[in-house]
Amino acid sequence: MSVVDRQEWDVVVVGAGGAGLRAAIEARERGARTAVICKSLFGKAHTVMAEGGIAAAMANANEHDNWQVHFRDTMRGGKFLNQWRMAELHAREAPDRVWELETWGALFDRTKDGRISQRNFGGHEYPRLAHVGDRTGLELIRTLQQKIVALQQEDHRETGDYESRLKVYQECTVTRVLKDAGGRVSGVFAYERESGRFFVLEAPAVVIATGGIGKSFKVTSNSWEYTGDGHALALLAGAPLLNMEFVQFHPTGMVWPPSVKGILVTESVRGDGGVLRNSEGKRFMFDYIPDVFKEKYAQSEEEGDRWYEDPDHNRRPPELLPRDEVARAINSEVKAGRGSPHGGVFLDVSTRMPAEVIRRRLPSMYHQFKELADVDITAEAMEVGPTCHYVMGGIAVDSDTAAARGVPGLYAAGEVAGGMHGSNRLGGNSLSDLLVFGRRAGLHAAEHAAGLADGRPAVDEAEVDRAAAEALRPFSAEGPAPDGREGQPPENPYTLHQELQQTMNDLVGIIRREAEMEQALEKLAELRVRARRAGVEGHRQFNPGWHLALDLRNMLLVSECVARAALERTESRGGHTREDHPTMDRRWRRANLICRLADPAGDPAEPEPDGGQISLTRENTDPIRPDLLALFDKEELVKYLAEEELYE
Ligand code: FAD
Repeated sequence: MSVVDRQEWDVVVVGAGGAGLRAAIEARERGARTAVICKSLFGKAHTVMAEGGIAAAMANANEHDNWQVHFRDTMRGGKFLNQWRMAELHAREAPDRVWELETWGALFDRTKDGRISQRNFGGHEYPRLAHVGDRTGLELIRTLQQKIVALQQEDHRETGDYESRLKVYQECTVTRVLKDAGGRVSGVFAYERESGRFFVLEAPAVVIATGGIGKSFKVTSNSWEYTGDGHALALLAGAPLLNMEFVQFHPTGMVWPPSVKGILVTESVRGDGGVLRNSEGKRFMFDYIPDVFKEKYAQSEEEGDRWYEDPDHNRRPPELLPRDEVARAINSEVKAGRGSPHGGVFLDVSTRMPAEVIRRRLPSMYHQFKELADVDITAEAMEVGPTCHYVMGGIAVDSDTAAARGVPGLYAAGEVAGGMHGSNRLGGNSLSDLLVFGRRAGLHAAEHAAGLADGRPAVDEAEVDRAAAEALRPFSAEGPAPDGREGQPPENPYTLHQELQQTMNDLVGIIRREAEMEQALEKLAELRVRARRAGVEGHRQFNPGWHLALDLRNMLLVSECVARAALERTESRGGHTREDHPTMDRRWRRANLICRLADPAGDPAEPEPDGGQISLTRENTDPIRPDLLALFDKEELVKYLAEEELYE
């Protein structure tokens, strides 16, 4: 039996981004002894990179805004595939979560009359994003960390120990969620990244808040942490994933120089008046307004320009269409040979605002382009192109409680949870999602831990041994190569990462084709065989190659989910575009695609069943509540809902 350190908690939160920290605060405030564990340094979660703002219908910048309009925009953005109850809770509760942040010390930009300023963003009918320049995520994380420190100080006053009720384990990776013999969550297995030391946090409730999967694609705005760990942890624990085919390609990432390709250019640039032009100088987005949005968007440059000054009497410019539409349009322009010199298009804000206003409203963008590309955005256009940014698919959860389906004690919130954003997320709706559902996950996890009738689930020692053996496998990688040859050197995990990223980028990227996705699945199967032989030298201490080898299991699992679901959905909707099925098909409106492990008892490192590690099933979505449907015009619903839904 492995000798592994143990600590007991009521709730363990995996991930210290916005969702994880908000969950931890709530759980601790509800009386649960709570541990937060994160792969990176405390404060360096992905959330810190969020730029544009938090969407919440506070009606500070336009009095007509309210939760119903926000709900409508979110459903339209997600092309009606959203879990409508999540979209409703999100729209209703987001303003309270932003006010709450302010009471905890967040310093938002202000309107002239002193209210929290709100800016325009794609797909939002009114200016709705509360922001701090273009560094909103930094302020959000700073505020949540400050709240955690305040709670720890409170605990110190009462117990003499800062960490008695709330402790952060930083630079530690969770590799398994543990369960007892009855299938209930009993804790997590983790290792310290620096020392390689294994440990177990025992807890009857675990909240997964690990963010996204972007590192499975070559060109991405995401950082090294986004290897789909939480998605894989849930799958391996027996919880299903929902609609993994929906991956958001943000329309504007940097395209030059190569070393920074993919880094995000915030949507605030377009929200603040930036226009997109092709190599012929044409403002091409007017050619790409889809029928479902025609009535809502300006039909001429003049009208679009007037909207910035007089939004009540003009329609918004098409640069502010939802992200999937803009990304596809840019892709088409480049493909048609009208791209910029480095394979993007031009985004120009310099003609809209004076230089000092650009530097004040978009300080990070100004520095990013100056320092990384030697481009002065106050005087010249940026070159931009699509970059993998966000995953709408994720752990299937109960809308109200954030409980993961089928695994008692498991919860999920933030980017790792599926459903809220349907087939496409609107900008700004992630930060609000983290706060709304982070709070709900923390609350229900704490209630679950407090309400256990028959005692705490026991950690299964055999499971701990298996988790330890799995984590150690890269030090003794062996087995025949895919061609059957014995005695070959181990595979290099870094090379496998690169091949995986290239495969997903090229074959399951922004525009998808049946034959290419089949090819991707074949390549993923080959990579899985090779990954079993991913080996590293040296020891567990300070060994980045080992971390890469362990990430591979997760990346391969989530990539297979994306590829299988994308192959199955024969329509184009939101963040899933099929060249061979180019239109949205109302018959698919009701279909959720569910991924599960094909062999739940199997070992991911052992030979897999034929046909891969993932099994895919279809499930009907719940009918949308009539009072919510009544918020839309009948003519609009006809464009989205399936025939039988209209009769119902
Ligand atoms: P994260 O903030 O990524 O946190 C994940 C946490 O999980 C980290 O602490 C990580 O270390 C930890 N973790 C992961 N795996 C493990 C593991 N195995 N073990 C332990 N810990 C683990 N959204 C908006 O709404 N508005 C914006 O303006 C905006 N701008 C963005 C700009 C950029 C450049 C990017 C990349 C995204 C932006 N987004 C924006 C999206 C938004 O920032 C993210 O969706 C959101 O921050 C995700 O938060 P999270 O709490 O779910 O995960």
